[in-house]
Amino acid sequence: MLSVIHSGSLHGIDALPIQVEVNTGERGELKWVIVGLPDAAVKESQNRVFSALGNCGFALPISRTTINLAPGNLRKEGPIYDLPIALAIIAATRQADLVHSSEFLIAGELSLSGKIRPIPGAFNLALLAKKMGKRGVILPFECAQSATFVDGIEVYGVEYLKDCVDFLRGFREIAPMQNHEQVVEAPVTNDLKHIHGQKILKRVVEIAVAGNHNLLMMGPPGCGKSMIAKCIPDLMPPPTYSEWLDILKIQSACGITIDTTCRRRPFRSPHHNVSDAGLIGGGMIPQPGEISLAHNGVLFLDELPEFKRTVLEMLRQPLENGEVSIVRSNGKLTFPCKTLCIAAMNPCPCGYFGNRQRRCICSQKQIQQYRARVSGPLLDRFDLQIEVQPVSLSSFQGNSEETPTQIVKERIAVARKIQIARANTYNADLSATQIENTCCCSRDNLVWLQNACQQLQLSARAYHKVLKISRTIADLANKPHIEKEHLMEAMQYRCFDRAWK
Ligand SMILES: [Zn+2]
Repeated sequence: MLSVIHSGSLHGIDALPIQVEVNTGERGELKWVIVGLPDAAVKESQNRVFSALGNCGFALPISRTTINLAPGNLRKEGPIYDLPIALAIIAATRQADLVHSSEFLIAGELSLSGKIRPIPGAFNLALLAKKMGKRGVILPFECAQSATFVDGIEVYGVEYLKDCVDFLRGFREIAPMQNHEQVVEAPVTNDLKHIHGQKILKRVVEIAVAGNHNLLMMGPPGCGKSMIAKCIPDLMPPPTYSEWLDILKIQSACGITIDTTCRRRPFRSPHHNVSDAGLIGGGMIPQPGEISLAHNGVLFLDELPEFKRTVLEMLRQPLENGEVSIVRSNGKLTFPCKTLCIAAMNPCPCGYFGNRQRRCICSQKQIQQYRARVSGPLLDRFDLQIEVQPVSLSSFQGNSEETPTQIVKERIAVARKIQIARANTYNADLSATQIENTCCCSRDNLVWLQNACQQLQLSARAYHKVLKISRTIADLANKPHIEKEHLMEAMQYRCFDRAWK
């Protein structure tokens, strides 16, 4: 007898419909055959299903059985078809009449005991179910919560194969999972008030977050670069609902279970050994990389020159466009990656160049080679570039009050609102025309800036960046026009325009 269960397969961050068909009672030797471009994990599924069925008290087919994953031209990956295959076998061998099965998309990995294990893509499958007009999804309990953020479908989290069978026969009621109605604001995990001194660094970080400007920090080890980077997600306003859904879609496709009770922006900090595909995205069946996992959040690249040159060069385009395109023989996949990129580096291989407390042991050539790993065009992606000095020990003495994250966050929120109301985008993303229209300053000030840029031999691009940063500084001060003090401050945050030459 033939039976069909509807499931889905991840293609990048979108799920595509898959039909799991099982036919039993065929002529020929007793054997299970899986067809439909399965990968190794799918082929192994028959062993897990075999064992799970036996341990849950179901009989195995006693004749030749074909399992077809349709459509046949799509590669199937991973163990997510275990549960649909098991259900289709139970139905095909007439051990249970799964009357409700066609109303749902079903996916899950099975353990040998029949327990259902979490899978990647719960949220993405729920989106597909909605698109297909299904009543809902049946997913492993552990990962089903994220699916409840898709409106208009029912989400059932199941723990055991037996429960799922009884539910689909109509023998057992399971309550659909509920969305967390009251979403609380994420508590601050890394507070600025715990960082002593570093006034300038804190100021630059505030500007970076306010205008969404990518930031490169250069300073000796232990000066607090990583510590302050970790504070940045808490400084950003919580994601809007649509930003939150995008975050869920990408994290869920990568099998990351995130806390859905509070909306937090992602913070990704890949190690410098990361592969091209790991950072940008890719693989046989392309998956989002770290840069997309940081979408609507923060991508922190520590020890920037230690990353592979090829990886760094591949970053340029996505950082500029806010999306990654991966081309494969069977088409192109696009992943969003609008992220605030924060990078940190030492000033030289030993880390102490320009340090007043310790001597640098590197040669001029070594320092040049080290810095040259960060190419000019990549450097250009960082609007803000500053040198960080080591923390002076005097800042630990006395009880100097440091401004807490909550206060800075409120200032940033005001500045960001001003930008959205004015140009519907953040200052970092202003186009050339928008810069002309929004970065207004007096004739005298403009001449002053042009002269300053000429004297320092800054490029036209750097000139525009200074204007954008000045706009953000003026927004933080709630000033309609850019004034000279804003321009002068912004000029200080382009440290490497000269140092790199
Ligand atoms: Zn050195």
